[in-house]
Amino acid sequence: HAKKAGVGVALYDDSYDIHSQKRLSLISGLPRAIKENELILHYQPKIRVSDRTVSSLEALIRWQHPEHGLLPPDQFIPIIELGDSIIELTNWVINRACLDCRKWQDQGISVDVAVNVSTLNIQDEQFIKRLDRILGEHHIHPGQLQLEITESVIMSDTKRAQKTIRALDSMGVGISIDDFGTGYSSLAYLKRIPVDELKIDKSFVMDMEQDDNDAVIVRSTIDLAHNLGLEVTAEGVETAGALDLLDVLGCNYAQGYYICRPVPADKIAPWIDTWSE
Ligand code: C2E
Ligand code: CA
Ligand code: CA
Repeated sequence: HAKKAGVGVALYDDSYDIHSQKRLSLISGLPRAIKENELILHYQPKIRVSDRTVSSLEALIRWQHPEHGLLPPDQFIPIIELGDSIIELTNWVINRACLDCRKWQDQGISVDVAVNVSTLNIQDEQFIKRLDRILGEHHIHPGQLQLEITESVIMSDTKRAQKTIRALDSMGVGISIDDFGTGYSSLAYLKRIPVDELKIDKSFVMDMEQDDNDAVIVRSTIDLAHNLGLEVTAEGVETAGALDLLDVLGCNYAQGYYICRPVPADKIAPWIDTWSE
């Protein structure tokens, strides 16, 4: 007991101030980050398993921070999500992703883009209006945009989330359930909410060749999705064997380091060229 408490106290004492300072500096630094172009989107392709063609690109944010270096999203998104700044951040991401998508289309590359959105975005009453404006500004068809939400977004405030997701659905925006299988929620929402796709979490996909339980979960999720009339993506595809297995299981789309790591926007066109050869 004593040892446990000691560790707990030590962690609290030593790192709390640093962490909370960093937190505050991250939150207060966001407007500057946007203005000074410190935020960067990397894109990770998603391919159709059946013919291995590229179907979409998922935008994954990074922050080139002047003090803390290149920050991965896990180091600042959860902090930003605690406050209203996530609204501004997601706006920035959607806007940049649509801008990049327009550039690709003008180069003859026709791909959809996917953006991760947070609970507060789905609860924000202005979200649809702003999204509509951004899509219009960049001449992006709503059907070319997918929004990835987690189950916690849906569970947070079902009525409001339902309303926003229905509105997105009637606009034609695709809705994908990210990290599927990792939440604690029931599956009942799948009957009420117009979802287009389940995205199987990488924790199941990465080890499915070795771990029979993971393989069962992946297989069952693919079947569940198809029986509900939904499409399904597997993320975390790290080997040729995993991709082949997904093909056998009838998974629609795949994403992962074996196919391509997340890369800066200007690396996408060259990657597609070599991939399609
Ligand atoms: P996610 O949406 O589940 O994204 C997948 C994460 O897994 C990404 O990490 C990606 O780089 C990584 N990944 C992709 N393929 C593989 C693979 O084959 N093996 C392994 N081990 N990992 C793989 P990343 O870029 O660090 O993003 C982490 C999380 O941060 C994302 O998880 C997402 O929840 C969040 N995030 C990223 N960008 C945004 C954003 O613009 N807005 C919001 N709200 N969240 C974001
Ligand atoms: Ca995602
Ligand atoms: Ca995930």
